[in-house]
Amino acid sequence: EFIGVMKKVEAGEELSYEDIVLLLKTERKAEMDALFNAADRMRKEIVGDVVDVRGAIEFSNVCMKDCKYCGVRRSLPTLERYRMTEDEIMEIVHELKAMGLQTVILQSGEDSWWTAEKIIELIKRIKKETGMRITLSIGERPREEYALFKEAGANNYLLKIETTNREIFDFIHPDDDFDERAKCSEWLRELGYLNGSGCMIGLPGQRPEDIARDILFFKEMGINMIGIGPFLPAKGTPFEKYPPGSVEMTLKAVAVTRIVCKRVFIPATTALASLDPEGQIKALQAGANTVMLINTPNKYRYKYQIYSNKNMIDLEAAIRAIQVTGRKFPSYLKIDVGGHKNA
Ligand code: SAM
Ligand code: SF4
Repeated sequence: EFIGVMKKVEAGEELSYEDIVLLLKTERKAEMDALFNAADRMRKEIVGDVVDVRGAIEFSNVCMKDCKYCGVRRSLPTLERYRMTEDEIMEIVHELKAMGLQTVILQSGEDSWWTAEKIIELIKRIKKETGMRITLSIGERPREEYALFKEAGANNYLLKIETTNREIFDFIHPDDDFDERAKCSEWLRELGYLNGSGCMIGLPGQRPEDIARDILFFKEMGINMIGIGPFLPAKGTPFEKYPPGSVEMTLKAVAVTRIVCKRVFIPATTALASLDPEGQIKALQAGANTVMLINTPNKYRYKYQIYSNKNMIDLEAAIRAIQVTGRKFPSYLKIDVGGHKNA
C-alpha cells in the first residue's frame, strides 16, 4: 500500500486523505526515508536549494490568553513580563539589516498594550529605516487592524491554527474559538498577506488522522508558510507533565506537507531543534526550506520560554545546518559563512 501511494507521489498525482493518513502512519525506517527523500526532491524542484533565513524578535511576553500548552500564558504568576521598547526593537532590526536579512518576524503574546496605533508606528519605522519585509505574529486581531497593518507595510502574518480537531482545539484553548481563528486566517488571505499557519504535533489525543486534516486545511486555505513543530511541555502549565511530540511524526508531517502543498515556505522549526539537536538538519532534508533565527536580546529571551529548554537557534547553528545539508546560503546574507558562499 505504501508503495502504491509513493507511486502516486512520483507521478505527481493528488493524494487523498486516506493516502496522507497512510504516509503519516508508517513507522518503518525504509518507508520513512523514502518519504523524506521524495519530499526533499520535491522541495529542490519547486523552491530550489537556497535556504531562506529570517530573524525573529519576541518583543513582548505579555499575553491575555491562557492556552494550556504555552509557557507565557496569562496564568503564570511568577513569570516576569517584559515589553521591549520601540527603540530596543529598532536596534535589533538594524542588526538584522546589517546581516543582510530581508525579513524580520515580530512575535508577541496577545498584548493589548500594543495597540494598533503602536504596531502601525513600528511597522512604518521599520519600513522607513530599513525597508525590510515584515512578518507579524501577534495573534488574533479585528479585521480592520489586519487591514491597517497591511496598509502600513506588513507583508506576512503568522497565525497557526494549531490543530483542526475542534475537540482538541477547545480543550487546549480556554479563550479561543476555532471558527474565529480560522476566520482570522481567511481575512489575512483576503487582505493579501503572505499567509502563515501551522500546527503542533503530539497534542493530547491527537492522531495521524487529525494531522492529515491539518495538512488538507493548509492546502484548502492556500496557506503560504507552514510551521510544523512538536508540542513541548512548558513548566508551570497544565501540560507540563505531558510527553513531547515525536520527532519522526513531525518530520513525516513536514514531508507530507511539502508533497501536498508544494510551493510553500516550510521552516525547520525552533521547537524541533529544541527536541533534537539534529532537528533542523533533518527537517531541511525532509521538505523544509527556511530557518528562523531568534534575535530577542539575551536579557529577555529567557522570559519567552513558550516551552521549557527552548533552543535559541543562533546563526552558527543555522549556518552549520545549511552547510551539513549542502544547501545554498541566500545571496543577500552579508555575513561570513566560512567560505561556503553560494555556488
Ligand atoms: N500569541 C501569538 C499566537 O498564539 O499566535 C503568537 C505567539 S505564540 C507563543 C507562537 C506559537 O508558539 C504558537 O502558534 C504555538 O504553536 C507555539 N507554542 C506555544 N507553546 C508551545 C509549546 N508548548 N510547544 C510547542 N509550540 C508552542
Ligand atoms: Fe498567548 Fe500565543 Fe501563548 Fe496562546 S500561544 S498563551 S495566545 S502567546
